Amino acid sequence: GSLPGWEQVDSLVVASHTRNRACQDGAVADYIPVLAQADPELFGVCVVEVDGGVHLAGDADVEFSIQSISKAFVYALVCEEFGHAAVADLVGVNNTGLAFNSVIAIELNDGHPMNPMVNAGALATTALMPGATPDEQWNAIRKGLSAFAGRELELDQEVYRSEAATNTRNRAIARLLESYGRINRDPLEAVDVYTKQCSLRVSARDLAIMGATLADGGVNPVTGQSVVSAEVCRDTLAILAANGLYERSGEWLFEIGLPGKSGVSGGLLTVSPGKAGIGAFSPRLDPAGNSVRGQQATAYLSRVLGLNIFASQ
Ligand code: GLN
Repeated sequence: GSLPGWEQVDSLVVASHTRNRACQDGAVADYIPVLAQADPELFGVCVVEVDGGVHLAGDADVEFSIQSISKAFVYALVCEEFGHAAVADLVGVNNTGLAFNSVIAIELNDGHPMNPMVNAGALATTALMPGATPDEQWNAIRKGLSAFAGRELELDQEVYRSEAATNTRNRAIARLLESYGRINRDPLEAVDVYTKQCSLRVSARDLAIMGATLADGGVNPVTGQSVVSAEVCRDTLAILAANGLYERSGEWLFEIGLPGKSGVSGGLLTVSPGKAGIGAFSPRLDPAGNSVRGQQATAYLSRVLGLNIFASQ
């Protein structure tokens, strides 16, 4: 089945926002200094249907840095280039059960980065991006993510500088991967490209369009551009279902029943395959680094729109 009629989806998206607006649970991320300055009251929700229909509520056009949600799309671009088997082997698909920036997860697995949604796997994935130089890799990433969003995405210089000045842990992770022969480029250059990809500015509306592109077999429903293949979308969504909300991915799948990806600035992207993309933004996070109100609004929409992929009817 498809989504209910236009008016109904429109009012349910507004309801997902009003019903959760008052919640103040969670805390804004502060390990990247500039993120601590985010306005915790911001809250936006957007659903984009695979036919291109857009439904908005709240601060859906406020921009923030994409952070870890970029990992899903860089993975898709790399998968498009190297294919299902190669990427599964090089980066992995299984959940670590540990935090997104865990070093122990790498050590426990003989240096394997485990999956492309934790920092180790994301750094290894970014390093695989085609390009003779880090600049070429960065340009390809910016172009690719912009095609998913259907508009030119731009780097947030302030977020980039703030993270680049403080990302000692990601540099350590990249060096650790290097020590295991798991990174095929200069590790610190890979960290720099990764930090840039995390600093791209998006809105909840952009996230919903990017998600709708994954829901639509790789065709952006707003621009009509084919960005990646349907096989790559399928693989990316499976990775998100298993790993998109880090060590809370199981709880998320149990409650919401959809592939999703969170980022520490408060963005949350969810995909209903064949139907729609959902973008949410609210900076207060749970202890794993996932937007609290983003999860609540998405849980509501999954329920009232009947999107849980495990439901028989
Ligand atoms: N840029 C952030 C980091 O590497 C992204 C983390 C996240 O969004 N969970 O720490």
